[in-house]
Amino acid sequence: MDTAILSGLDASKALYKSLEDRINYLKDKNITPGLAAVLVGNNPASEIYVRNKTKKFDSLGLKTNLFRLDENVSEKELLSLIQDLNSNNDFHGILLQLPLPKHVNSENVLNAIDPTKDVDGFHPENAGLLSIGKPRFIPCTPKGIIYILKHFNIDLNGKHVVVIGRSNIVGRPISILTSLKKIGNATVTLCHSGTKDLKFFSKQADILIAALGSPEFVDASYIKEGACLVDVGINRVERNGKSKIVGDIDQESVLGKASSLTPVPKGVGPMTIAMLVENTVLSAELLLN
Ligand code: NAD
Repeated sequence: MDTAILSGLDASKALYKSLEDRINYLKDKNITPGLAAVLVGNNPASEIYVRNKTKKFDSLGLKTNLFRLDENVSEKELLSLIQDLNSNNDFHGILLQLPLPKHVNSENVLNAIDPTKDVDGFHPENAGLLSIGKPRFIPCTPKGIIYILKHFNIDLNGKHVVVIGRSNIVGRPISILTSLKKIGNATVTLCHSGTKDLKFFSKQADILIAALGSPEFVDASYIKEGACLVDVGINRVERNGKSKIVGDIDQESVLGKASSLTPVPKGVGPMTIAMLVENTVLSAELLLN
């Protein structure tokens, strides 16, 4: 069987194209969607993530400001910046790049973000709205996964979706989204580190979403013939003395057995950034209504 490669890069280009009219409409009303990105410390991976996100906003003519804070910033100072950004009308979205230094309680800071500017969708109010089927801001990675599947006409209706991983940013929200009648209408199994006999479940998946953070963990023995595979993992590994990024799926091993597969890189990753843009545009639109 040929395994179709579901390019997140191609899907993200389609999304950016569809955003052009929405952005122009807002600009006609003198509104430029704006993102405030908050970066604490000098974590090299966080630097790259934030740079990629702000570069994308710049390239689309959207407003973006990076607020850099020292590694030793106090929780109080950070909370004070979030309050300022909450009331600053230039910013429709606030991105707090994680992880934060250990002396700061991340939950306190995330929960201080105005839920109407929470474009990452991590605030309990937005998580609650999603879980009752009335989403406002959907976390970017799960939202991006749904977009890729729709873009490539992969129908979720009545299918068995198996998710590996139950984090609040990927596994749990994608399990909710795929189960919602209006979005996926799939039957969903959520597997995690406490699951006994993972293969028993993963081999039943019509669509398998791997978000466990373990390099190339899922190989051909975990899937059934013809499954669609979504590889969320981003893991840096050393191979032959070189550093490289691999997913949670052993991509080579599943080629020929899976019907389709999101690659790593250029799969789910580009969609995550694209959805941050979409959520920020949405936030500006919600202000208009
Ligand atoms: P996490 O560490 O918060 O959660 C991992 C989950 O996997 C946990 O719920 C755990 O129970 C489960 N798990 C771990 N080992 C398991 C095993 N052997 N069997 C079954 N379940 C197991 O991770 P996360 O933040 O959800 O991220 C998951 C992966 O996705 C990471 O590689 C991360 O880098 C990547 N990620 C990618 C994007 C993107 O834009 N592509 C965005 C977010 C996260």
